Amino acid sequence: MALHTKLFLSLFLLSSCLATLITSSQGDYRFWQQQFPFIRRASSFSSVSSSKSTRSNGGEKKFDYIVVGGGTAGCPLAATLSRNYSVLLLERGGVPFANINVSLLSNFHLTLVDTSPASASQFFVSTDGVFNARARVLGGGTSINAGFYTRASTSYVKRVGWDAKLVNESYPWVEKQIVHEPVFEPWQRAVRDGLLEVGISPNNGFTYDHLYGTKIGGTIFDKYGRRHTAAELLASGNSQNLHVLIHARVQKVLFDTTGKKPRAIGVIFKDENGVNHEAFISRRRKSEIIVTCGAIGSPQMLLLSGIGPKEDLKKLNISVVQDNKFVGKHISDNPLNTIFVPLNRPVKQSLIETVGITKMGVYIEASSGYSQSPDSIHCHHGVASAEIGQLSTIPPKRRTQEAIEAFKQNKKDLPHEAFHGGFILAKLAYPKSKGHLRLNNTNPDDNPIVTFNYFSHPKDLQKCMKGIKIVEKLVRHQSASYCYDVGQVHGSADFKRQIREIRRNMK
Ligand SMILES: Cc1cc2nc3c(=O)[nH]c(=O)nc-3n(C[C@H](O)[C@H](O)[C@H](O)COP(=O)(O)OP(=O)(O)OC[C@H]3O[C@@H](n4cnc5c(N)ncnc54)[C@H](O)[C@@H]3O)c2cc1C
Repeated sequence: MALHTKLFLSLFLLSSCLATLITSSQGDYRFWQQQFPFIRRASSFSSVSSSKSTRSNGGEKKFDYIVVGGGTAGCPLAATLSRNYSVLLLERGGVPFANINVSLLSNFHLTLVDTSPASASQFFVSTDGVFNARARVLGGGTSINAGFYTRASTSYVKRVGWDAKLVNESYPWVEKQIVHEPVFEPWQRAVRDGLLEVGISPNNGFTYDHLYGTKIGGTIFDKYGRRHTAAELLASGNSQNLHVLIHARVQKVLFDTTGKKPRAIGVIFKDENGVNHEAFISRRRKSEIIVTCGAIGSPQMLLLSGIGPKEDLKKLNISVVQDNKFVGKHISDNPLNTIFVPLNRPVKQSLIETVGITKMGVYIEASSGYSQSPDSIHCHHGVASAEIGQLSTIPPKRRTQEAIEAFKQNKKDLPHEAFHGGFILAKLAYPKSKGHLRLNNTNPDDNPIVTFNYFSHPKDLQKCMKGIKIVEKLVRHQSASYCYDVGQVHGSADFKRQIREIRRNMK
């Protein structure tokens, strides 16, 4: 899946005061141990690293597969492989279970705002100045994201060369376990009706399929607003073969370089006490180490392990295992603009449910309400803040201290009611603008340096403007359902200002 970054140029944050609500807890050990007896803390692993040795000193258990990164891809992969093979899955974060910030839809924004080292999300900012979050918890992105689920388009499956039959057989396996039909809140209904009225048709109703037109997709939140993550997919693995270690921060992949080609043989990881361990794959011919650390973490892990551009590796004193100029190159992120539509009464909270899929490669989505307590607007919301974060109305590179102070001052005088409303998001699929990633240092816990070069390709900018035009049309349309279900659209001056700002910032 593509990395999902926010370029929120124009909205306000609706949330309750976070200072008291944030807990960095990563789940209580006792609650989930019974259901997932194969998940253990990294310190329980018996092998301790033999200092600089890159070879197994024998004796310890070896695995058919070692999967590095227990996220959206890593968990189902480990579960599937464990049916026939022994698998070690290593995840740097804790568990998502019993962590209320992760588990509840109403707390969606809290994890993203929590920038503490124990948070399930790792704060990340690219050199473009755009704020983002990287998952740091079992379940990966599914433990911190907006929970929207859809099947891939058939053309995408063909383009990337996957076996379409196998892909189609795999969808129900995931869907049965963690995907739900959304409750479909009034704001979502209003946006669906609006999309159909402005011509994003046909109405495809509720479907997991990726179809042109307007649809309601799946969600990993159930009807009680509880999140179901990829970590739950581990339950369908073979518990005799599956070994999952949490708080296992993989430092690098180890290679045997004595043969014709380097061969991955093991990994070094640090446990929660900072002690190094080594784990190895078996000598079976098909044994593998699979890196599923996410769009940022995977190239970072390859570079840390000595696979990448030779010159860059040498600068950081990393021994070169394989000179490869492509590692860390051609990285891209889907730009996303958001419009806030003020309404004359509070709107129930919802994450992504309605989606307009256009043929021009722009997706229109909707979300609404974030714990709208009267004091929320006076709080600083960190990564998701309107001062400096994804929700800032000031473009990333123009966020001077004066601009931030001016924003904070103005925010104080805003009435709570100004924050009643919903969001409409316009997202670009398959951006043509490409960037690059390189290591900042040799510490795997630190973010690498990433540049996405948003909108450097003129086609991306054109598409983005087209997306905003659809949103503009949609809001101006003010379909009957807005008034009936959600409330009258008001504050049109504010809406016009947002559109103006987006246009100005695009120039
Ligand atoms: C705020 C937000 C909202 C989003 N909303 C949606 C949405 O609604 N729908 C949707 O489809 N997509 C959404 N996405 C995108 C989606 O979550 C990601 O595309 C997806 O999770 C990527 O899966 P992955 O397996 O590649 O990486 P991840 O799920 O990020 O998994 C990588 C895992 O590797 C671990 N890891 C990294 N480095 C190491 C290391 N050195 N040692 C051990 N473990 C390591 C991480 O902790 C993580 O658990 C959203 C993303 C964000 C940030």
